[in-house]
Amino acid sequence: MRLIIMGPPGAGKGTQAKYIAEHFSIPAISTGDIFRANVSHGTALGIEAQKYMDAGEYVPDEVTNRMVRNRIDEPDAVSGFLLDGYPRTLAQVTELDGMIEFTGHRLDAVVVLTADADEIVQRLLQRAELEGRADDTEEVIRRRQELYAEQTAPLIDVYRGRGVLVEVDGMGDIDQITGRIFAALDVIPES
Ligand code: ADP
Repeated sequence: MRLIIMGPPGAGKGTQAKYIAEHFSIPAISTGDIFRANVSHGTALGIEAQKYMDAGEYVPDEVTNRMVRNRIDEPDAVSGFLLDGYPRTLAQVTELDGMIEFTGHRLDAVVVLTADADEIVQRLLQRAELEGRADDTEEVIRRRQELYAEQTAPLIDVYRGRGVLVEVDGMGDIDQITGRIFAALDVIPES
């Protein structure tokens, strides 16, 4: 399976990504997690990415695209993967299309988690307390939401047009949401 999980910041993508990946025995590839790991190890990529992340801005496409290309070339991703946090721009969609086409496979589904705006801000502020992520301050959260609406939300229409969109209500218990996602994905024939 080659899957994408999308949704506004705080919609619960990372949480659900782990369950979906386990269910289909594929790696969950989170660009945010990879960037954060690079920041904490002080790599050149981390140093480059950090200035954007701390401000809630997107890391430039060339940097992100190269990182994803390298990651999905790894052996564990040969039989499939779930992308969390990528693509986020139309340019990244085009790039990903090329990467998947090159392998002779196709994108099976794009899961979009929908969530209520007020609930999302609450979740993010709670996460800020628990995990202390540098980009979970109110001002930066607002910027990330703005960028999502401007640059990432339009991707939903693109994937809807291709008939691969699976919209799932992201409100409720974690288990309940996982159940909804599995119910929607289990009927999709594997490529
Ligand atoms: P969120 O929880 O807000 O969805 P992530 O953990 O997925 O955030 O990503 C954190 C930050 O990493 C983003 O705000 C952005 O700076 C950077 N980032 C992650 N994925 C991408 C991407 N596909 N393109 C550009 N920047 C990205």
